[in-house]
Amino acid sequence: MPKFDEMKKIRDELLAFKESPLYEYRTANKYFPVVGEGSHDAHIMFVGEAPGKTEAKTGKPFCGASGKFLGFLLGTIGLTREAVYITNVVKDRPPENRDPSPDEIALYGPFLDRQIEIIRPKVIATLGRYSMAYIMKKFGLDFELEPISKIHGKAFEAKASYGTLSIVTLYHPAAALYNGSMREVLQKDFEVLKKFV
Ligand code: URA
Repeated sequence: MPKFDEMKKIRDELLAFKESPLYEYRTANKYFPVVGEGSHDAHIMFVGEAPGKTEAKTGKPFCGASGKFLGFLLGTIGLTREAVYITNVVKDRPPENRDPSPDEIALYGPFLDRQIEIIRPKVIATLGRYSMAYIMKKFGLDFELEPISKIHGKAFEAKASYGTLSIVTLYHPAAALYNGSMREVLQKDFEVLKKFV
């Protein structure tokens, strides 16, 4: 099946995903599931945590304040949003911007797994500790897992079904919105991605 059709199938399944504890909240608020955005042939895939309000209202990932900063960070290494693929582990907005629960991560994770198989990225850059933990565990790197304060800005080698893959662990861009000094940390960590551009 062409990549576009496979991705559309995921979108249709998410739209009808009544098994999710977030389904009612989404429909009651006229929100959208946020599947992802960007090139289906991207070499670099960014994985955030879950959509915020702006994202759920528009159906687009990272289009609020943290998305603006993510766009800036991409620019610092010569990338555009269109050249990469941006998505989240959890595809529906959790109420009150709370962290995604382990159950939600387990429920939505398989959609992300399928997206990885469609896009076949050479690099997965995780944004925040939940996506870091999910992706590192998925690729058998549990033994390398440490608090994000210890392993941010690192690249780990892993094996995907389609070949080798680098996993780059980054802080969530929202961290810089609450803590100004994080801006420089994130900017420096992004440089790790430069060699894959
Ligand atoms: N934060 C995330 O983790 N993902 C988004 O799409 C927006 C904000």
